[in-house]
Amino acid sequence: DVTTVIAGAGQAGVQVAASLRQTGYAERILLIGDEPVLPYQRPPLSKSYLLGTTTQDSLNLRPQTFYEAQSIDLLTGVQVSGVDLTTTRAELDDGTHLHWDHLVLATGARPRQLGIPGETLAGVFPLRSLHHAQHLAEQIRSAREVVVIGGGFIGLEIASALGATIAVTVLEGASRLMGRAVTVPTSDYFAEQHTARGAQLRFGVTATEILGAGGRVTGVRASDGRVYAADLVVVGAGVVPDTTLAEKAGLATDNGIVVDASLRTSHPQVFAIGDCARFPDAGTGRLQRLESVQNATGHADHVAREITGTPGIYQDLPWFWSDQKGLRLQIAGLATGHDSTAVLGEPASGKFSVVAFRAGRLIAVESINRPADYQAARKLLASATWLSQDDVTAAGFTLKAAAL
Ligand code: FAD
Repeated sequence: DVTTVIAGAGQAGVQVAASLRQTGYAERILLIGDEPVLPYQRPPLSKSYLLGTTTQDSLNLRPQTFYEAQSIDLLTGVQVSGVDLTTTRAELDDGTHLHWDHLVLATGARPRQLGIPGETLAGVFPLRSLHHAQHLAEQIRSAREVVVIGGGFIGLEIASALGATIAVTVLEGASRLMGRAVTVPTSDYFAEQHTARGAQLRFGVTATEILGAGGRVTGVRASDGRVYAADLVVVGAGVVPDTTLAEKAGLATDNGIVVDASLRTSHPQVFAIGDCARFPDAGTGRLQRLESVQNATGHADHVAREITGTPGIYQDLPWFWSDQKGLRLQIAGLATGHDSTAVLGEPASGKFSVVAFRAGRLIAVESINRPADYQAARKLLASATWLSQDDVTAAGFTLKAAAL
């Protein structure tokens, strides 16, 4: 039997199975995930799910009936424990051996550990899985003082979801929020908003030890010499790609599973997609790893085309969103390496966009509560329309008009 085996049933794994069927693939598809639940979306875990406005069922990427109707053999609670590239076989942790013609590694990422004392105390949480979110949601109910370690998207979304009666301190080692992903004006605006709503932000401060009593967290000792009291600590220190299986199999890895422009690993019948994949940027050729729904689904659609005989180069436009304090941040493109910015609209009105340029050319747009700008920016950037800094900063310029 011709078979595609997909290791990892997250956003990317489920999408590659669905896209294979959509592109007419009629062979066997085995989708294997080690979490013991139906595959689910992660973005709501730090947003509506924590706020209690989303049920667990509505997190599911697809209903159970979808897998049956599409003849996708979904195994949950089972890990792919080994892959043999020579015999093209995979081994599962329940002892099963499977043959594959195509193997897709969609193993995702795991929370980065801080490597400081006290990380295993009760009341200290990363947030990656439904399991984490269930425990966090439970403990938030009785929390009074929360320390968030890391001022990235997930830490800030959790800080936003906490009720007004909870004191929140965010420790960020860098000098600004979400510094790896957004421009300075956007970081600064979000810092103002979080501060205005009562969060204490500490920049240039890292956690050095998590303190506890009776096995439960009581506070965080930080690099500024202070101890921040806490009955709950959220660790939002980023993720590390899950390359365990790829490394064991002998595939090339380097901060991710290294793939070429068509998302093939160092073995031509093995692909890697989503958070675990390090792939070349279509413009610069530089290897990058992105962590987003767009990246997972874009990669998946591409690999489905590769497997069904329409090979090519992956070059989808990255986009991303984050919800914090009633503000919707939407990002089109990547601001990495930008050398200047301009602001469209009035930050004081709570609706504006930051436009990022590299060498005088528009490369990314960050919109805050301006969805029309974001939609126009996606159109412009996807069509590789050349917009110079002078075009964008000219009086009367709007992204919407430019995208027509
Ligand atoms: P995952 O979704 O992590 O799936 C990988 C799966 O593979 C996991 O279930 C893992 O357990 C399993 N696995 C690993 N190894 C094996 C193995 N050997 N055998 C079997 N199974 C295995 N992105 C956005 O674009 N916008 C957002 O607002 C946003 N918010 C987020 C909020 C949170 C709290 C989190 C955690 C992520 C958020 N993301 C967001 C990121 C987005 O969810 C990820 O980029 C996306 O889930 C990546 O999909 P993936 O399939 O590559 O990895």
